[in-house]
Amino acid sequence: MAYVALYRKWRPGSFRDLVGQEHISHTLAHAIETGHVGHAYLFSGPRGTGKTSTAKILAKALNCEQGPTPAPCNVCESCRRVNDGTSMDVFEIDAASNRGIDEIRDLRETVKFAPAAGRWKVYIIDEVHMLTSEAFNALLKTLEEPPAQVVFILATTEVHKVPATIQSRCQRYDFKRITAADIEGRLQYVAGESGIQAEPDALALIAHQADGGMRDALSILDQCAALSDEIITAERVRDILGLVGRDWVVRLLRAIAAQDAAAVLTTIADLLQAGKDLRQLLGSLIRELRAVMVYQAAGPLSGVDSFESSQEFLEEMAGVFSPERFLPMIRCLHDALQELKWTSEPRITVETALLTLCRPEAAAAPLQPPAAAAADAARLTQLETRLAQVAAALAALPKTAPAAVPVSTARPVLRAAMSAEKPAEETLPVAVTEEGKQIWQKLLANLRAQPDKGPVYACISKGRFCGMNERQFLIEFSSRFLKLRTDRDDYRMILEGELMQISGQPLQLVCSLAASDEPPAPPRPPVKKTAKKSPAPQPIQVDMSQLPPQAQQNLEKAVSILDGDFITPPSDS
Ligand SMILES: [Zn+2]
Repeated sequence: MAYVALYRKWRPGSFRDLVGQEHISHTLAHAIETGHVGHAYLFSGPRGTGKTSTAKILAKALNCEQGPTPAPCNVCESCRRVNDGTSMDVFEIDAASNRGIDEIRDLRETVKFAPAAGRWKVYIIDEVHMLTSEAFNALLKTLEEPPAQVVFILATTEVHKVPATIQSRCQRYDFKRITAADIEGRLQYVAGESGIQAEPDALALIAHQADGGMRDALSILDQCAALSDEIITAERVRDILGLVGRDWVVRLLRAIAAQDAAAVLTTIADLLQAGKDLRQLLGSLIRELRAVMVYQAAGPLSGVDSFESSQEFLEEMAGVFSPERFLPMIRCLHDALQELKWTSEPRITVETALLTLCRPEAAAAPLQPPAAAAADAARLTQLETRLAQVAAALAALPKTAPAAVPVSTARPVLRAAMSAEKPAEETLPVAVTEEGKQIWQKLLANLRAQPDKGPVYACISKGRFCGMNERQFLIEFSSRFLKLRTDRDDYRMILEGELMQISGQPLQLVCSLAASDEPPAPPRPPVKKTAKKSPAPQPIQVDMSQLPPQAQQNLEKAVSILDGDFITPPSDS
């Protein structure tokens, strides 16, 4: 016998089996008992909450040979045919399919004929918000003059996309996300009936992960049963779903609560060592913090929908964190989660975020800077320190040594960039040519096709090609951050390599910032405040041979600190 997925096999057969939607099943059962069945229903709610199942139960209840009854027998021919999808009187239309419009047109023709075998004809239109406006109009005409003995059930996950004219002709029922406790109860029942052995913790974890949808919960149970040996353990579920274990979350939150930065960093290192996923980690931390926040606000009666949080731990954490800390903390983790989508250094992102949480004064700030901005600020501080170092090194030069010598010496001179920005590149005349546009498109396509270059693509694709010449390829950014990031050596190397491959010539990537992002006036790239005294990077000219050895060493050190270099001036004219 062919294998039947659990969620199909255990689809609720009657209103009694419908989990978590009692408000709906009671009303519908009452309508059937009293013979007050409407002509059109609109079932809205998240996926996997029982909309289609309820529609089918209603169809069976109306046509059951023992009915109409709120408890269809599920054994008579009418019930079986509805369950198999072969009933002549129950029509299931998937509005998301291409055939949706044709089916609605057919429906207008067939709807007037009397039911073939049962008492009622039932039309179930799934994902009704996907209908075209033409199809909606056809449907509306039918709903305006509903034939007797016909019931329409429209199901949707996005009720706001259903025209008001349609909504106003339907009785609307809103399906709720099913609570983890309800899902867990149903999983216990299904596992018991299906001979699946599972630890209670494992089922609770599945229920929690299903996020309000019964269908997802049963699918996960199916998957775990297939991949487990004898008994499904919580550990196995975590492995299969790639979840970060609860122990890690507890360990990290305790370290954060104790403001123990070293423990936080060690835990992250151990976690990576164990092959855990950082996105999952942040997600788990966010859920746990939310649970503590709710617990703190409403106490043990809050019914925190998180099995993972033991009462004791919630209480412990609620005693440590002050209420105003939660939102900034959760926001900080959210920002880091966003940044993980494109960063090439996920570990640094997570470390920065969690260390920020260790500092209550930072985490309590009303608006936490995104991790990216924090990283930028860190780089700035670093550069300021370096500048101070180089200034000290220059000050240490003996006064007797000439600070500058004529360019004509043709000896190496030092060029030091004096700001966080790269010196403005000399830009030759450029043109937006057809060839250039093609290279640009090819560059984007090539990067998109290489998953490991995803972060580079994410940055460069926000840029705009604005011209090239035989040596340079110009990209303009409207985001200062993206411009700086793309300009850094690691990305630049990848991009220039690609450009070389596509164009067959060495092209220098020149990144610029769109004017609109800058305050008016200065046409130059922005200069950081640390460079007040020298607004534009100027080469500093020093004749090395004139310096005492110690000063030469100092200079070389300064150059390496600053990522500067020596250039040889043009020879005498
Ligand atoms: Zn029946």
